[in-house]
Amino acid sequence: MTRTVYLNGDYVPETEAKVSIFDRGFVMGDGVYEVTSVLDGRLLDFPGHVTRLTRSLAELGMDNPLSDEEWLAAHRKLLELNDVTEGMVYLQVTRGNPGDRDFAYPPQGTPQTVVIFTQSKPGLADNPQAKTGIRVISIPDLRWHRRDIKTVQLLYPSMAKMEAKRQGVDDAWFTEDGLVTEGTSNNTYIVKGGRIITRPLSNDILHGITRASLLRYAAEAQMQIEERPFTIAEAQEADEAFSTSASAFVMPVVEVDGATLGDGRPGPVATRLREIYLEESRKTAI
Ligand code: PMP
Repeated sequence: MTRTVYLNGDYVPETEAKVSIFDRGFVMGDGVYEVTSVLDGRLLDFPGHVTRLTRSLAELGMDNPLSDEEWLAAHRKLLELNDVTEGMVYLQVTRGNPGDRDFAYPPQGTPQTVVIFTQSKPGLADNPQAKTGIRVISIPDLRWHRRDIKTVQLLYPSMAKMEAKRQGVDDAWFTEDGLVTEGTSNNTYIVKGGRIITRPLSNDILHGITRASLLRYAAEAQMQIEERPFTIAEAQEADEAFSTSASAFVMPVVEVDGATLGDGRPGPVATRLREIYLEESRKTAI
């Protein structure tokens, strides 16, 4: 099926959606994005995603081209046009086409490029990996130091993902100064003695929208949370581990750098948190 996508205010077939070769997103990686999951035809954690989008744009000196209401309306329209009930919506905003390649930003007022598209993923909430858990390896975090900005510069995470695949596992956790920062495309957690341990927010990690919601739900469920960095050795000795992201929700991790955690199956805390997250985020979906 040819999808309908959004490009600069128009709803067009994907085959007709064209962006300039001079676009700064293409030549400079000068753009930001968001991914929002869809269950039951509704958007999960949407206010969090548009709020982070505005922040990412502001950190790069860009305006938000649409209001929150306009973003929501465009997301909903694409879901309807493409008949998506389970999957995700991707949006991207770049600094647009300055007409020539130049390191300096084009003048303020140069039209930005705004793209939104959907990906249908039936069975998203019933991902079989959530039942078995995933295996991860650690990889040095060689990304830039503004990981709090959700830019389209995803080459290093892609390289890490390929290295994980090459080693026959599912994902990679980045480490820096002996401590885990985050996963290739997720925030990371360990569980020890019932406490949920996760790295605090800073420029070192993306401020996950799923992380924010999950920590709120966990606190409401009287679970103990400790926001501090942890090492790979600690993860290997933890009772459980898991990661969170908009597209995978809560994903149990059962192996870290070859060490099996617990009995090698998803633990009760990660399993419960996945249930709570899915239940609560479905309730607040719009
Ligand atoms: N960290 C990184 C590096 C990511 O790419 C992502 C997913 N985009 C996350 C964390 C999780 O963020 P969210 O829960 O908002 O999807």
